[in-house]
Amino acid sequence: MSSPAATPRLQNQVALVTGASSGIGAGVAIAMAAEGASVVVNYAHSPEGAEQVVDEITKAGGKAIAIKADVSKEDEVLAMFDEIRKEFGTLHILVNNSGIQVDAPLLEMTLEQWQKVIDVNLTGQFLCAREAAREFVKRGPQPEISKATGKIICMSSVHEVIPWAGHVNYATSKGGIMQLMKTMAQELAPHKIRVNSIGPGAIATPINESARDTPEEEKSLLTLIPYGRIGEPADIGSVAVWLASDESDYVTGITLFADGGMTLYPGFADNG
Ligand code: NAD
Repeated sequence: MSSPAATPRLQNQVALVTGASSGIGAGVAIAMAAEGASVVVNYAHSPEGAEQVVDEITKAGGKAIAIKADVSKEDEVLAMFDEIRKEFGTLHILVNNSGIQVDAPLLEMTLEQWQKVIDVNLTGQFLCAREAAREFVKRGPQPEISKATGKIICMSSVHEVIPWAGHVNYATSKGGIMQLMKTMAQELAPHKIRVNSIGPGAIATPINESARDTPEEEKSLLTLIPYGRIGEPADIGSVAVWLASDESDYVTGITLFADGGMTLYPGFADNG
């Protein structure tokens, strides 16, 4: 006789995943839906990508809808939250995942390149987190659904701690996310809202395709990963599910690095 199936860890919860039409966001949306969450697949540019993710979730028996919004635009974020309330009544989980890279050496970086990355990666996370927190506080606790009144997960990066020449706008945005996350965690804990970050290492997604173009480039990337493999979106999906679930109810204000050891200074491994 087989043992009864475990209760899905995010049952009856509504999750918004920003930038979920590709890469890590798609992986997180699919993982959360598989644990029973109704998922809002936010996208900015690719309705096709978002529909594919929604289809995959629905075909597997889950619930998902796609909503378009540029997370760096306040009016679009407010409209997205109104639509979520109309569709699902409330929200329980926000995954602040949208992010971009616009690379240039410092000496050549334009203000526009700097500002674009800060607007999407940092201001976008602030706007969505503020709206999610407002909704959580207004709705209040629902202990029958989840121990915490709300959960916010910020997609940071190993570059919140590892400097990254040629990417000063991106590294600065991720360093900023660390203090955004910690300060929100401190401020929102009395409301029983948990705020944490995930710090992915190298995950195979469209954002870093060019860094994996040739076998040589891939080999060079692997020298930075002690665990010896490039990550997949599902590696981040499972971490996000845990951080959103009651299993991590006493965890707030941390960055959980999922990086195959990239933050272990692998250059020092044989240089002691
Ligand atoms: P990706 O390019 O597949 O995903 C980024 C998503 O953000 C895309 O779906 C894109 O459409 C969306 N987006 C861009 N601008 C937006 C806007 N203005 N409004 C709403 N959505 C917008 O790349 P990814 O690797 O899946 O990146 C997801 C997150 O993970 C990013 O925050 C990135 O910085 C972070 N990250 C990725 C890696 C990696 O190795 N892939 C490592 C560390 C951190």
